[in-house]
Amino acid sequence: MKCAFKTLILANNKQATYFSKACGVSRFAWNWGLAAWQKQYELWVDSGKQKALKPSGMMLKKQLNSVKKADFPWMYEVTKYASQQPFIFLNRAWSDFFKKKTMNGKPVGKPRFKRKGKSIDSFYVGGDQVVVRGRYLKIPNLGWVKMAEAIKYAGHINSMTISRVADKWYVSFSMEVDVSFLPTKNQGRCGVDLGISTLATLSSGPVRYWDTPKPLQHSLRKLARYQRRLVKKTKGSTGYSRLKVKIGRLHKRIADIRSNCLHQLTRYLTKHFGEVTIEDLSVKNMMANKRLARHIADVGMYEFKRQLDYKSQWYSTLLTIADRWFASSKLCSDCGTKNDTLTLADRTFSCKCGAKKCRDYNASLNLENYTARSAGIYAVGDGGSALVA
Ligand SMILES: [Zn+2]
Repeated sequence: MKCAFKTLILANNKQATYFSKACGVSRFAWNWGLAAWQKQYELWVDSGKQKALKPSGMMLKKQLNSVKKADFPWMYEVTKYASQQPFIFLNRAWSDFFKKKTMNGKPVGKPRFKRKGKSIDSFYVGGDQVVVRGRYLKIPNLGWVKMAEAIKYAGHINSMTISRVADKWYVSFSMEVDVSFLPTKNQGRCGVDLGISTLATLSSGPVRYWDTPKPLQHSLRKLARYQRRLVKKTKGSTGYSRLKVKIGRLHKRIADIRSNCLHQLTRYLTKHFGEVTIEDLSVKNMMANKRLARHIADVGMYEFKRQLDYKSQWYSTLLTIADRWFASSKLCSDCGTKNDTLTLADRTFSCKCGAKKCRDYNASLNLENYTARSAGIYAVGDGGSALVA
């Protein structure tokens, strides 16, 4: 089972300088490759698409290697992956673009040039160059660096990516983990209704309401305040850049809190239930109104689905995503009558049959019964969506 483990690197100045340099090499190689690709792509089209002239990541990597020693000797100061891996990523980026793949619900665009200070600073290191001993990590041409914690899983490390978030450095290991030892308590079905103030309402089990963490709401309000303040500052001034760093740190904190909270929720769901049903989140996204709230909720919801997806595989839970037309909040979970007069402001669901329930709880019950009720369902579990009859 593939799995990622990410932790903070306690880097000193010398180590941080190395990381920045490796990110710079990586960015340079990417931009060099992209520029060469664009030029050679045109030549290939002009040639009537002769096979031998078609640009590829491998071909461009060889071209860079042939001039590296003479033109870019500084590339040798960091791991070889910093100048080589970008070509593999570039290949993938073009292929994703031509295959019209989507990310977070949107089609991926053409690969773009990376700009210092604008794009994420990161570099990749292949598994053959990764050495970890407890809390220490060995970096090629640098030596040992200390991590905030040791890797939690046992397994083979395929690769690692070192990246900068605000002013801190993080390492993320991509690992192959044996999960046959993971315990599972798969019992029963559960429908999950997602919301903004109450993160999730569960149809069964001992826990019914999963609240959005208080520190998250606090940080979101703080972020909005900072952003209002940033607009008034002059671009390039000391105050501006200082506030930018603060905002960067806060973004990271928000992401951490949300990710922790989502991890707890998705672990709970997949460990406790044999079947979990959620609504189609692309529909849910349209319901939020405030721009900032929507952006933040969107990211959280895609992440929620992503985590549920892979954890369902770990714990062999059947994950079902209800059809996007399924009106989970408008149906009566007792008699099945549709209540078309229900508005977003109604927090209680009441029905002619006498049923009276919390709106979100009613929706979660409908989701729980969804698989039994509907004919066409989408089962997710192998990384993609497949129609199940
Ligand atoms: Zn009813």
